[in-house]
Amino acid sequence: MGIGKKIVLLTILVVVFLFVFFFTLMGAQKDLKFTILYDNYVYKEGTKADWGFSCLVEGPEKTILFDTGTKPAILLHNIEEMNVDLNKIDAVVISHNHGDHTGGLLTVLKINPRVSVYLPVSFASKYEQKVDKDKTRVIAVNESMKICKDVYSTGEMGTGIKEQSLILDTSKGLVIVTGCSHQGIVNILKKAKEVLDKDIYMVFGGFHLMRHSDEEVKDIIKIFKEMGVQKCGATHCTGDRQIELFKKAYGDNYVPIGTGNILKIDLK
Ligand SMILES: [Zn+2]
Ligand SMILES: [Zn+2]
Repeated sequence: MGIGKKIVLLTILVVVFLFVFFFTLMGAQKDLKFTILYDNYVYKEGTKADWGFSCLVEGPEKTILFDTGTKPAILLHNIEEMNVDLNKIDAVVISHNHGDHTGGLLTVLKINPRVSVYLPVSFASKYEQKVDKDKTRVIAVNESMKICKDVYSTGEMGTGIKEQSLILDTSKGLVIVTGCSHQGIVNILKKAKEVLDKDIYMVFGGFHLMRHSDEEVKDIIKIFKEMGVQKCGATHCTGDRQIELFKKAYGDNYVPIGTGNILKIDLK
């Protein structure tokens, strides 16, 4: 083979390699990071627990704050303790219109108004009047919808208290984050599968089972396993006794949740 042919061959190889490298990089998902900023339980010393829920989602193209807890002072304390910069948030998603999830919303918007706020359609207008319309975009969520690449809302669900949950589409399967699960935790899992038709890797948040008997909770856990939920973390309004049942059933695949907890999902 002449030197000219060798150079041509080498050039082709380099170009092919660069293309493969570039497209692998483009398609790869960034690792997911969830920081629990408000919860009924303490995980990390120095953070404060209180009735409510809030979780920061980092990794997708948009940084999302899911729910905002009850008391702004406690939310801000935990935000500072966890070195979270609210100015890096692109979107706020509120699960439902209960004070233990909406309590910090206006405080967050005062610090960083340049966000999109996704509210269930049934109460979106309540906040539309309170936000700075020049800076904050309020999105009323009715049906399931895409928030950004790989992040979806289940859409407003439930017949009584209306609620939405967050679905992340990852290479490991779906990750679902719930507020209070007033619409029923099993209904949320079914809805997530309806929206994306993929296996469920993990679900965590409030499951709202404190008035359920052990037998009823065990039946729900059975459905979780039948549906192929690999990991779960029950917290907030799930109930102490009920949380223990999930812990026992999931063993090493149980994810303890509390303020200051960082859940990392490696997607590489
Ligand atoms: Zn609630
Ligand atoms: Zn709640």
